[in-house]
Amino acid sequence: MKHHKLLGLLLAATITAGNMLHMSVSAAVTGDINGDGSADSTDLSLLQGYVLGNSELTQTQAKTADINGDGKTDIYDVVKLRKTILASDRSIKYTAVTDKITTGYTDAFKKLSVNDGGSAVTSTTELKTALSPYLSEALVNNYLTKYNDTFFSQSVLLVKPVFLTSSNYQKKKIYTTAECGCSSSYAGTYTTKNVTSYLNIRVEHSAASESIGRIPPNAIIPVSYGNGQWAHVTYDGISGYANMDYMQKISEPAPSYEFIPDLKVDSIKYSAGKLNITASEFKSTATDFAPAILIQTTISKKDYYANGTTWSVTITQPPELKYDYPLAKARLDAVGWDLQAAFKSAAATTYYGQKPDMPQTTDYSLEWYADYGFTNGKGNCYVMAAMFCEMGRLLGYDVHLISGKVPLKDGSMGAHSWTEVKIGDTTYVCDPDFAHETGNNGYMITYGQSGTWRYVKELVMD
Ligand SMILES: [Zn+2]
Repeated sequence: MKHHKLLGLLLAATITAGNMLHMSVSAAVTGDINGDGSADSTDLSLLQGYVLGNSELTQTQAKTADINGDGKTDIYDVVKLRKTILASDRSIKYTAVTDKITTGYTDAFKKLSVNDGGSAVTSTTELKTALSPYLSEALVNNYLTKYNDTFFSQSVLLVKPVFLTSSNYQKKKIYTTAECGCSSSYAGTYTTKNVTSYLNIRVEHSAASESIGRIPPNAIIPVSYGNGQWAHVTYDGISGYANMDYMQKISEPAPSYEFIPDLKVDSIKYSAGKLNITASEFKSTATDFAPAILIQTTISKKDYYANGTTWSVTITQPPELKYDYPLAKARLDAVGWDLQAAFKSAAATTYYGQKPDMPQTTDYSLEWYADYGFTNGKGNCYVMAAMFCEMGRLLGYDVHLISGKVPLKDGSMGAHSWTEVKIGDTTYVCDPDFAHETGNNGYMITYGQSGTWRYVKELVMD
C-alpha cells in the first residue's frame, strides 16, 4: 500500500487573546512570596492583596515582596513582579478535551482553514461568538450549558475547531475483476428501476437462465460486481445475477479508512508573551470517521491576564507510518526473513477459487487478501500475491500488487493477480500462483519472458 497522504495539517493559528501566567517551574525565586519554589500568579495575588490593604504578609514574606529592592513594598513591586512573571518561559497548567462532531456543523466549519478559527473566551457571550459560525444553534447551546457563568468565573477556555477532510484518510478505491469478468466498480447499493411486479435473480448472466429468486419493486439490493448489463446481487439470502437495466445505484460502498484520526493537546507553554499550544494527530480506536473536532482547553482564570498576548496552536502529524502487517511478520518469523522463502511460502498456499468459495467483500484491499490467506491458509491468485507483497515490503522491497488478466486454456482471458518487484530500474514479476499452478519458476521473472504467462496488466492495486 502506498502510504496515504496525510493532511498538510501543520498549522499555526495566531489568535489575539489575553496573557496567561502560571509559573509551575522556576529556577529564579525572585518574587516567591509564599515560598513554594516559584514566582507565579499566586504570589502576585498575595502581593496585590497586601498592597491594596486587603491582606497581611509575614515579615519574611514582606521582605521577599520588595521585588525592586527599594525598601518598600508597594504598587511598583506589583508591576515588577507582573513583568517578571510575563517575561519568563513556563508551562501552563491546563486540562484539554476534544469532542468529535459528526453532525450539526456548518459549511463554514468545512471551509475552515487549519490556520484559523481558534479563540480564547472568557464569557458565555464570547463563547457563543466563537462557536456560532461553525456549529448549529443546538450544539452551541450545549456548550453554553457546559461552559456557563460559573465556569467562566474560575476559568478561561481556549476553543479550536479543526476540520479533518475524510478523503485524505480513505483507502484508495480498488476495483477488482471477478472470474466472470465483472468489475467491482459496479459495487454498491441499488434499488429497482421501472419494476412493477418483480425483478428476477438468475443463475447466470443471462435472461435465458433459470430464475431462482424475485426482487420486489423499491427493494434495497447490495451489489458486489457487475458488467453494466448484469449485476452480482444478493437478496433475501439468494445470490445470483440481476439485469442492470432494471436497477439504479443509490449509494457507493461505504468507504474504509487507513485509520481514524483524532487530536490531542500535548502541551501549553508560555514564552515571550505568546501562548503556544501543541496538539497532535493520533490513530483513534474509534470505528467511525468524525471530520469535525473541537479542542477545548481550560486554564484557570487567575493564570490569565487580559492584556493582549497571542497564542498559537500547532498540530503535528503522526510520524510516517511503517507498514504494519502483523500476520506477514509472523509468517516471515516462521519461514525466515528472506524474499525467496516468502515467495515459496505464498506459493504453497492451498488454491481456493474466488467463486463461489472465496467470501465477497467491498473492501478489496491488499490487506484484506493477505489477511485472508495468512488466516485461512488458502486462497486464489490475489491472496497469494497479496501475501507475498506484504512479506516483500516488510523485507524492504518495493513490491506492488497487480490486477490484470492472463489467457486461459480455452483461449479466453481470465482475471489474475501477481506482484511487481522493482529493483533499480528493473521491474520483475513475482507470481506465486503461477508457480503454484504450473510448478515453473514464477520468482523474479520478467514480462514477456518465455515459459511464462502473457500478462495483461490492468491496475496497481495498492
Ligand atoms: Zn459476473
